[in-house]
Amino acid sequence: MNVNQHPPHPDHDRFGFRSVPDGLYIGGAWRPAAGEGRIQVIDPSTEAVIAAVPDATVADAAAAVEAAAGAAEGWRETPPRKRSEILRRCFELMMERSETLATLISLENGKALRDARGEVAYAAEFFRWNAEEAVRISGEFGIAPSGANRIVVDYQPIGICVLITPWNFPAAMATRKIAPALAAGCTVILKPASETPLTAYALAALYKDAGVPPGVVNVLTTSTPGSVTAAMLADPRVRKLSFTGSTGVGRTLLAQAAKNVISCSMELGGNAPFIVFDDADLDAAIEGLMVAKMRNAGEACTAANRIYVQSAIHDAFAENFTQRMAALRVGPGVHSDTECGPMITRKAVEKLDRLVVDAISRGARVLCGGRAMAGCGFFYPPTVLVNVSPTSDMGCEEIFGPVAPLYRFESEAEVVAAANDTEYGLAAYIYTRDMGRGMRVASKMEAGMIALNRGLVSDPAAPFGGVKQSGLGREGGQRYGLAEFMEAKYIATSL
Ligand code: NAP
Repeated sequence: MNVNQHPPHPDHDRFGFRSVPDGLYIGGAWRPAAGEGRIQVIDPSTEAVIAAVPDATVADAAAAVEAAAGAAEGWRETPPRKRSEILRRCFELMMERSETLATLISLENGKALRDARGEVAYAAEFFRWNAEEAVRISGEFGIAPSGANRIVVDYQPIGICVLITPWNFPAAMATRKIAPALAAGCTVILKPASETPLTAYALAALYKDAGVPPGVVNVLTTSTPGSVTAAMLADPRVRKLSFTGSTGVGRTLLAQAAKNVISCSMELGGNAPFIVFDDADLDAAIEGLMVAKMRNAGEACTAANRIYVQSAIHDAFAENFTQRMAALRVGPGVHSDTECGPMITRKAVEKLDRLVVDAISRGARVLCGGRAMAGCGFFYPPTVLVNVSPTSDMGCEEIFGPVAPLYRFESEAEVVAAANDTEYGLAAYIYTRDMGRGMRVASKMEAGMIALNRGLVSDPAAPFGGVKQSGLGREGGQRYGLAEFMEAKYIATSL
């Protein structure tokens, strides 16, 4: 394995750079890109360039598809028990390397170490879960109503998969796709986000160490995702596209995938409502909101985006919540006492500024934060606003940062209508002590995932995904995530 050629970092070993080989990972080998280009990786806490990775071209994409195709039959025919043991080894190695991986995630993404540690544990769990599922893929056997025929259903790997992931969970978004794909018997090409490639490559080295055969997982980074992805999707051997990212890019990819009628799973943007009824346990609701809003400094698709608080408790809730938000320690993610790290880019900070300025211009009042922090790094302080107009930009767009707008409501019917008044439908949060109301409102929410008296909805053992423009399909547990990488084959027989 090549030791990487990244520019030296003052604290090189601590940040786990040595676990990141330099090169595209294709066919089980680390190789330079066909072109000369490199993609710089920026530490969002310092704005320093901390590494550079290869910039894959269309020729590299073709090589990756070739490698995945070359490995497909061997992997598909590998006994499920063997596939399961390799996936289990991936889980074990991730846990062994968790501190190095968490530090690397924190460094290139900016998130607080405690969030990065949580991500590694979450990401590893997809390997453990799918190691257990790989040996339980069974078909079905039925009798046709006429009694004359038998219906046999066999589940088969869907084929070569292109996986595209965002920067906000550089480990978990990749393993949530790779683990079930491998359990199903598919080979894959992962294109991680340009901002956070180091975690993806560190994990590629881990898969190799765990015994994943050459060509089964391929990883390439590129600054031209449009043309590189289009080239892969144009290859008729590619049968699956699994994408996590923004709704806009998802729409573009769906259109591209249509040409070859490629199966698509789409995990897209969100605009989650967080509803607090006046009978809720307020301490628990604030605790839950701190997680739902501030995990990953708000850079999560499931993040609470619109916080609805019933009128009678609104002011007290706003005051207590503001105290908690204002007390959060903002700083570089890799500092052990940081609770809110930087945003991913300068552009992300500018977007937050724009949303807050727009809300203020429509009558919102800032209770804490409200302006980008001066100095080095892409920092934005935890911010709370009240009197926010529902038609302000932050009511309609994903905020994707530590900005929390509160909206006052009177009745259940009013809040259900307001919560559903969005093109998105990923997650929704409800706090009430009345479980009848909780279940009633949950059933009316137009969202794929509901957290009832909880601030965290993600669970590797549960189906993750959205409705409306938040996506298509499900990832994660039970058998939903695995099913996305299999095709049902029906065999008619008269036996
Ligand atoms: P993004 O801009 O859509 O990028 C996501 C991925 O798509 C990156 O790897 C990106 O590559 C790639 N990409 C961009 N343009 C492309 C194109 N034309 N063809 C092919 N690939 C392309 O999203 P992001 O800003 O990284 O992530 C934030 C978004 O992801 C938010 O909307 C968030 O809600 C969503 N998200 C959803 C879930 C979920 O499970 N539903 C989970 C996490 C995040 P580059 O990095 O090179 O641009």
